[in-house]
Amino acid sequence: MSNILKITGLEKTYTSGNKQLTVLQGISFHVEKGQTFSIVGPSGSGKTTLLGLCAGLDAPNAGSVELCGQDLNTLNEDERAQLRNKEVGFIFQNFQLLPTLTALENVSVPLELQGAKDATQKSTDLLEKVGLKDRLHHYPSQLSGGEQQRVALARAFANAPSILFADEPTGNLDTETGEKVIQLLLDLNKENGTTLVIITHDLELANRTQQILQLKGGKIVTNQPTTAF
Ligand code: ADP
Repeated sequence: MSNILKITGLEKTYTSGNKQLTVLQGISFHVEKGQTFSIVGPSGSGKTTLLGLCAGLDAPNAGSVELCGQDLNTLNEDERAQLRNKEVGFIFQNFQLLPTLTALENVSVPLELQGAKDATQKSTDLLEKVGLKDRLHHYPSQLSGGEQQRVALARAFANAPSILFADEPTGNLDTETGEKVIQLLLDLNKENGTTLVIITHDLELANRTQQILQLKGGKIVTNQPTTAF
C-alpha cells in the first residue's frame, strides 16, 4: 500500500505577542491510500492544528508533510490550493456553509469556481445522495444541524477527493444524525476508496476506522490499528 499522507518530524508553535506556545512536537506518522484513520485526544492536544497542517491550510515550524506524493514545503500557496482543489475534501465541525447561498449553491458554486461545467447537475446528484433532495433551495438557516452537515459532506465530496479530512464531523449532532453522517463517510471510503482522516471524541466512531492515533499535549501517545479489522 502506498502512503497518501506522510508526516515527518512535525512541529508547530503559535506566537502571540512575546508568548510562544508549542502545540505539536516531533509528530511522525503515515496514512495509507484508502485507509480510514482517526485522530483522538483531549481538547487542546493539537488535533485541529495537526489536521490543518496535514491539509496544507497552515505551515509547520519544522518537519514535512507529504500529501498525495507532494512535499507541501516545496509548493507555493497557489500550488497548495491547486492540490487541495484537486485531491482534498475538508469537513469542519461547525459546517462553515455560506449563509447567503442555498444548499445547492453551497455545493455548486465552489465547483463552478473550479471550472466544472455540469456543477448544478453534479451538486443536485450529490445532495440527493446525502438525502437532501427536498432541501436544495433552502438556506443554511432553514436547515437542521444534521442537514447542514450533510450539505457540508456533499460539498466535500464534490471534487471526488482522494483524501477527506473531517474535524469532529459528528460533534454537533445527535446520535442518530451522527450515525447517518458516519455511514455516509464510511460508504464514501468503501465505494470510492477515499482515504478518511477523522478527528473525533467518539471512541465508538474511532473504533470503526482502521487506525487510531492518540495525541496528548502535542505528542503522539499511541498509533495503532483497531481490532475491528
Ligand atoms: P484540539 O483540536 O486538540 O482541541 P487545537 O489544535 O485546537 O487542539 O489547539 C491546540 C492548542 O493550540 C490549544 O492550546 C489552543 O488554544 C492553541 N491554538 C490553536 N490555534 C491557535 C492559534 N491560531 N493561535 C494561538 N494558539 C492557538
